[in-house]
Amino acid sequence: MASPASPAPAAVTARGWGWRYATRLKWAARGIDLDIAPGERVLLLGGSGSGKSTLLHALAGVLGGDEEGEHAGDLRLDGAAPHSVRGRAGLVQQDPDAQAVLARVGDDVAFGCENLGVPREEIWPRVREALDLVGLGVPLDRPTNALSGGQKQRLALAGALAMTPGLLLLDEPTANLDPEGARSVRDAVGRVLDRTGATLVVVEHRIDVWLPLIDRIIVLGSGADASSGGSAVIADGTPNEVLGTRGAELAARGVWVPGIPPRHPAPPVAAPGETLLTARGLEVARVKGTPVAGPVDEVVRAGEVLGIIGPNGAGKSTLGRTLAGLLPPAAGAIDASESLSAGAGPAPIRWTSRQLLTRIGTVLQSPDHQLLASSVRRELEVGPRALKLPEGEIAARVDELLERLRLAHLAEANPHTLSGGEKRRLTVAAMLATRPRVVVLDEPTFGQDARTWAELVDIIASLRDGRGDDPRSAVVAITHDADVLAALHARVLALPGATA
Ligand code: ADP
Ligand code: MG
Repeated sequence: MASPASPAPAAVTARGWGWRYATRLKWAARGIDLDIAPGERVLLLGGSGSGKSTLLHALAGVLGGDEEGEHAGDLRLDGAAPHSVRGRAGLVQQDPDAQAVLARVGDDVAFGCENLGVPREEIWPRVREALDLVGLGVPLDRPTNALSGGQKQRLALAGALAMTPGLLLLDEPTANLDPEGARSVRDAVGRVLDRTGATLVVVEHRIDVWLPLIDRIIVLGSGADASSGGSAVIADGTPNEVLGTRGAELAARGVWVPGIPPRHPAPPVAAPGETLLTARGLEVARVKGTPVAGPVDEVVRAGEVLGIIGPNGAGKSTLGRTLAGLLPPAAGAIDASESLSAGAGPAPIRWTSRQLLTRIGTVLQSPDHQLLASSVRRELEVGPRALKLPEGEIAARVDELLERLRLAHLAEANPHTLSGGEKRRLTVAAMLATRPRVVVLDEPTFGQDARTWAELVDIIASLRDGRGDDPRSAVVAITHDADVLAALHARVLALPGATA
C-alpha cells in the first residue's frame, strides 16, 4: 500500500501545448515543449503572465473542460491526460491564507485524501506522517488560523503530500513569507523530496532560496516567442548553464538572476518636506484590546519613504492599516497635518471613506481582498467615481494608468482572473487613481518578476518625488524585501518580534 513516503515519481511531457481561457482572446500559455524525467527537480521561471500558473494548473488536472477554454497540442503525466490521473500531482499555491480550507489542522490535511476517496483508516496515518515530514508538530485539532504564514504553507504541503503525489507542483510557495518562513518551507520540501523521490516543479521569482534544491531551470518566454511558431521555452538546462551563460539575456527579460539586480531609480530629489502624519505613543491592535505593536513615535513626511520591517507577526500590517486610517489606534494617537486633513479633522480614523480617497491610499498585502469590480477598467474607475469627478477626467486618469501599469490589454478582463503580478499592478493603479497624498503599501513588490519589480519601484519613487503637477507624496512601505528599501533610500522603522 502506498504511504506518503513511497509514491513513484511522475514524468511530464508537453508537445506544443497551450491553453486559452474562454474569456480571453490571447493564449495564456502556448507552444510549450518539455520532457521532465521522474525525480527531476525543476525550477520554472518566466515573467508575470507568461503562463506558469496555467501550466501548473493543467498538470494538477484542475484546468476546466472545453467550456472553460481551448487547448492545443498535448500534455501528459506518466503518458496520461493529467485530469484522468488526479492525485498523481499535488499543487501548493502562493497565498497561505487562501489555502487553509478547514478550521482544524488535521481535517485540512485530510481534505484532499477524502476528495480522492482514500479509505478512512488509511487517511489518518497518512495525515500524521505528512505533518511529521513537513515538520509541523502541532496537535491535529489546532485551529488553522492560529498558524503563521510559513506554517500554513507547510500545512498546504502536508495536504498535498497526504495524497502521495508523484509530482509536486509549487506555485510561488514562499512569495508571501518572510525569509525565515521561506527557508522553513524550502527545508520541508527538501526533506520530502529526499524521502519520496517525487518529481518537483517549483515556480518562484526570488530563486536564491531554491537553488540548493533544484537540478534544472526551465524559462518560459512571452506569447511573442511562441506565436511565430517557435517554442515558449526560451531556456532549459542546469542552473549553471542557464544562469551562467544566459544570465544577462534573461535578466533583460525580467528574470531575477542572482548577482544581476534590477536597475534602481535615482535618489530623492530633495530632503524630506512637510510632516503629514504624526504618531504619538501609538499602539495598534488587530482586535480590540490586544495590542500587537507599539508604542511608536514616528512621522510620515512628504518626499520620503518610511519602510516598516520586522518578522512575521510583529504587527507591521496592523500598524500600516492604523496609519492608513482603517483601524482605530489601541492607544496613543495619529494626527494629520492641517494641509493633509484639509478640513476633515486631525484623526484619520474619523474620515469618511470618500475623504480618505484623496488623503491616504492603501494597497493591501493580498490583492484579492481589494478587488471589487467586474473589469479592470471599472476597478480603476471606482475611486474617481466616488469622488464624482467629471467623466472626461475619469477616462483620462484611467487610460493613463492602464498604459503606465501595462494593463491596457486587460482593460475588459475580470480582475479575479489576472495573474498574481497583474493583480498587484492593478491594486497599485487603483490606489493611484484618486491621487492620495499619503500612500501605505503592504508588500508592494512581493512575488514580482524583476521587470515588474523595477516598474513598481519607479512608480513609488515618482510618488515620493512628485511628478508633473502632483506634489511629493509620503510613502509608507511595509516589506520583507530589503532591496526595495535600499532602492528607494527609505528611512527604516524596525518593529521587534512579537513578545507574547
Ligand atoms: P503566470 O503564472 O506566469 O504569472 P498565468 O498563468 O497566471 O501567468 O496567466 C497567464 C495569462 O492568462 C495572463 O494573461 C492571465 O491574465 C491569464 N489568466 C490566468 N488565469 C485566468 C483565468 N482564470 N481566466 C482568464 N484568464 C486568465
Ligand atoms: Mg502565477
